[in-house]
Parts: sequence; C-alpha cells; structure tokens
Amino acid sequence: MPFERGRAPQSLQGGWERHLTGSCHGHRLGRTGQGTERSVTPQALKAEAARAIDAVSPDLIDLSRALHADPERSGQEHRASARLIASLRAHGFEVETPLAGLPTAFVAKVRGRRPGPAIGLVAEYDALPEVGHGCAHNLIAAGHLGAAVGVKEVLGALPGELWLFGTPSEEDGAGKVELVKASAFSSVDACLMFHPYTETILLRRDLALSEMEFTFFGRSAHSAVDPWRGRNALDGVLLTHAAVNSLRQYVKPEARIHGIVTHGGDSTNVVCERAATRFVIRAFDEAYLRELHQRVLDCARGAALASGTRLEALERERLPGTRFNRALEDVVRGNLLALGTPPRENASCYGSTDFGALSRCVPASWFFVGTHPEGTPWHSAEAAGLSVSERAHQGMLLGAKAIAWTAIDLLTSPELVAAVNAEFRQASS
Ligand SMILES: [Zn+2]
Repeated sequence: MPFERGRAPQSLQGGWERHLTGSCHGHRLGRTGQGTERSVTPQALKAEAARAIDAVSPDLIDLSRALHADPERSGQEHRASARLIASLRAHGFEVETPLAGLPTAFVAKVRGRRPGPAIGLVAEYDALPEVGHGCAHNLIAAGHLGAAVGVKEVLGALPGELWLFGTPSEEDGAGKVELVKASAFSSVDACLMFHPYTETILLRRDLALSEMEFTFFGRSAHSAVDPWRGRNALDGVLLTHAAVNSLRQYVKPEARIHGIVTHGGDSTNVVCERAATRFVIRAFDEAYLRELHQRVLDCARGAALASGTRLEALERERLPGTRFNRALEDVVRGNLLALGTPPRENASCYGSTDFGALSRCVPASWFFVGTHPEGTPWHSAEAAGLSVSERAHQGMLLGAKAIAWTAIDLLTSPELVAAVNAEFRQASS
C-alpha cells in the first residue's frame, strides 16, 4: 500500500519523516571495516570488478531484453522479480522475498571476508501502462545485477557486505516508502542507484510530489426523462479539471499539476452517480507543495459545491525530494570521470522518485546515466523502443561499473564511510 493511501487529506503539515513508522538508518553507524585486505589496491579491485561485469555482459543484455519484452506494471512485477532472483541465486546470493509484505520485493545478500560496512544497491523493474519500459527500468534491473556481480567478485578480499534491494512499484505505489516504513534499509550504511536518461547527471534536484484522488458522488436519474432529479458526479470531475487548468497559469514555473479521469460513468442514459479523478502535484519546495496541495483540494471542493455532489478526497502518495550526500556524490563523480564520462551537475529535473524517501533514511546517491539520445521524450513509446538499443546497453554497463566502483570505495575506506555517515547525521539533525 502506498504511503498514506486511504487517509483523508487535510494538508501536508510538517515534515514528511514524522509519518514514517519504520526505523531509519543508524544502528550500524560507526561499524566500519578495517581497510583493504591482502593489501590489494582499490584500483586493482575495481579493474577486477569491471572485468567481471564485462564477462557477464551478454547475460545482462539478455536479461534487459527479456524484461523489456515482458513489461509488468507496478506491484505486478512477478516475472521480472523471479528472473532477477533466479540470476542472483545462480551467482551465489542469499535472497529473501517477499519483503515488507510486498510480494515482488526482495533483498539479496553476500558477505565479505569478515564483518564491515553493508552497502545497498537498489534495483527497479516496473513498467508503465501503455508504453512498457519507457522509463528503462529494464536497464536499472540488469545494470544493478551486473554491479552486484562485479562487487561480489572482489568481496572475498574485503570486509563488509553487499545487499541488492529489489524495489517494486516505483512508477505507481512508491514501493520504497513501504520498504522504509518496514525498516528494510535500516541495516545498510549507504545505498547507491543509477537511473537511465538522455544524459549523465549528478546532483539532480527533483520534485517533491503529492498524488490526490477525488471521488464525486452524485445521484442517478434518467438522463432524458427526469434529469432534474439527478446530480452529475462527472460534472464534479470536469469542473475540477477546469478549475485546475485556471490555477495552473498562476503557479511557480517549476510546479507541475497533471491529472487523469479514472472513472466517468457507465451509461449515457444514466446521470453519473460516481466519477473519479487523480491529480499529481509537484514542486521543489515542500512548503510550496503543501500550499498547492491545498489549492487543488479547494478546486475539487468548489467543483463539488457547483455540481451538488459529495466529494471524498484521498492522498494516495507523497514523496519528498532526494537528499544529496556530497561526500558520496564526490566518490560517484570520481568514478564517472575515471570511466570517461564527466557528469553534468546541479541540473534541475522535473521528475520525482520514491528514492527521495530512501535518501531521508540512509546516506544515498542516485545519479543518471546517458542511455538514450538527447531529446528523447521520456515515459514515451519512443523511449521504450530505445531502452534495448546498443547505446542503452553500453550506458547500462557504464552505470553498473560506476556503482560497483563506488561500493568498492566504500568497502575499502572506513574513513569514507565515516564521512558519509557524519554528513547524513548532520543533515538529519
Ligand atoms: Zn524511472
């Protein structure tokens, strides 16, 4: 169940963290390894991991293609999850599934030479209705499997653990919020993830999000014989859209408000008794998001008054923006540069992600890798078609290596883990 689904919204008062009931990162703070063993340099370990990723790259590309050919919607990623789990077990990972009551979530673990920091990698694998893998989560899934295989190759020489989280329902349902609430990430020291896009970007600011569902209840009657006895619930929906369309011209440029009609009646002969619509509201600033949330709710309330219908309003989902960890981002930057791909930095992007919730509970880095040509419309059939191109798979392998190398940097440097944790604690206080 997504965060706060089913509760009547009033406003987004206060910070979002107070809504979480799961315990966040913390109890392993300070438990770090003792440095690289067998006196192998991090550079040598990274080269070995990269070789391991290249060696399995045909399998990773096959997996990416298989996921792409069989897209599954959020929360229904049963075959994708099973394929990933089978691959992880074949590579010697211990897999626990389901996780936090989510049937398509899992965590796969492998241990190093002795206790040390636990590094989490985060995979997604859901697709979009209509357009399939238009967000290229097939590349995320196969890429993070590759990263995990690369790190495992060298983990026998290192202290610590590697955990790969299978996180469903990114597009709809905010699976990571459920996992955070169930404390799934509380035992890892840092989490890493890359996402495909049209360019390689680090420190991308994303939008906090609130998703609202408005259901209008009218009164049925014959549409021609006695329509005056009816109250049209569809009018509530249509008037809400008209009011939001007017509101949209007077919001800050970065704000986004967009909606769909999910139910609009069943018969033209019957005055519509029930109609429903959903809106997503997004803004960088969480206080401004709360203000917009209230104004969109007022649009729906006004529509109910005008149409003589009754409104039920629910908040389906709420996501914060992603919190950066500069110490971790510096390491990612260094690895992207070493791989010959300088990232664009400090970009604004108008998307949102449930990784934002994760980043509030554990030190985390989330970056984009250029897998698609510039100008490709995202979440489109065109993007989906390009999610299995040669370029896409080259980008996937680059992302896998950047993730694996960053994990190796963390596993070989107690000082780095301490710095990442210190910054996280300061940001949380
Ligand atoms: Zn995505």
